[in-house]
Amino acid sequence: MLRMNDQNAIPSVDYAETREETVMASTAMTSTAMTPTATTPMIRRDFLKGGLAAGLICLGSLGSITCVSLMGAPSLTGGLSGGRAGSLAGLKNAGPTVGATATELEADASGVTQCRWGLAIDVIKLNERDILDRIAAACHTNHNVPQIDDPKTEVKWIWGSDFVHCFPEMDNEYFSDKYKKLVVPVLCNHCENPACVRVCPTGATFKRPDGITGMDYHRCIGCRYCLTACPYGARSFNFTDPRPYLEDVSPNYPTRAKGVAEKCNLCAERLDRGLAPYCVEASRGAMLFGDLADPASEIRKALADCLSIRRLPELGTEPSVFYLLRSGDTHA
Ligand code: SF4
Ligand code: SF4
Repeated sequence: MLRMNDQNAIPSVDYAETREETVMASTAMTSTAMTPTATTPMIRRDFLKGGLAAGLICLGSLGSITCVSLMGAPSLTGGLSGGRAGSLAGLKNAGPTVGATATELEADASGVTQCRWGLAIDVIKLNERDILDRIAAACHTNHNVPQIDDPKTEVKWIWGSDFVHCFPEMDNEYFSDKYKKLVVPVLCNHCENPACVRVCPTGATFKRPDGITGMDYHRCIGCRYCLTACPYGARSFNFTDPRPYLEDVSPNYPTRAKGVAEKCNLCAERLDRGLAPYCVEASRGAMLFGDLADPASEIRKALADCLSIRRLPELGTEPSVFYLLRSGDTHA
């Protein structure tokens, strides 16, 4: 069933032409797409090497891999402190860096025990457009998400949407205006059963052991099956070269190429360094991040204290993003 595909309205682009472009983009990717330029401080190879090195350092310090939830280590809750909350101890099993190849993923998956990163968004606290704008700006600027104004070709990782549009099943003639008027942030839900992973023919979209749905841009052939399959419209496609649309190129994340799909990666590159996601930092306490598998984590406490909902639960995708409908005392 396909619903709420607010970004799946694929522009009317000639398929043959697009396929030709995407194949060209795909074949050019190893040589051109990620080639360093004067304005591209980090290329994908450097990025992966950095992630791999960070992973090895973590593994070396561990001796053996033990899940954060089993260690009782603090969960990452950057939203509460507004900054660098959590610790590397809470991130030892963050899994391979986003963009890892299937081989790297398999290697990193061996011996990793259960851990599932998730987000809880307090929709009452996050009720102002400027907070939402700040969150989106923090994410998009640091991830080199292009600012393309045409809604048919725009690229976005996190954005605001009407509450009722997100949760159509909640709407009725008596439904509280308090919620109806809210604009809530939407992003990839890092589903436990992701439709996008099932349809991806190349493994460019994959599931990490820590619950993050990752992307390997080099493997993406631009078929856009994932855009069609995702029931949340959480994916974007680079119909054009995104780099001219970047005001500044951030050194924190690789730029992408024409013909490649993309989406939120839950700041996997930051988790590897013990940092909370950008959106959580920018939310000033309105978003919580942590290990859903750890009953002692702040996110689990918030979910225990507050009424929470997820988008389109009837689809069985099991999103890892929760929306809290009232503020709880323990996480305020
Ligand atoms: S929200 Fe969409 S893109 Fe994200 S994991 Fe779920 S199905 Fe995939
Ligand atoms: S467009 Fe989506 S489904 Fe197709 S290869 Fe790329 S990530 Fe996979």
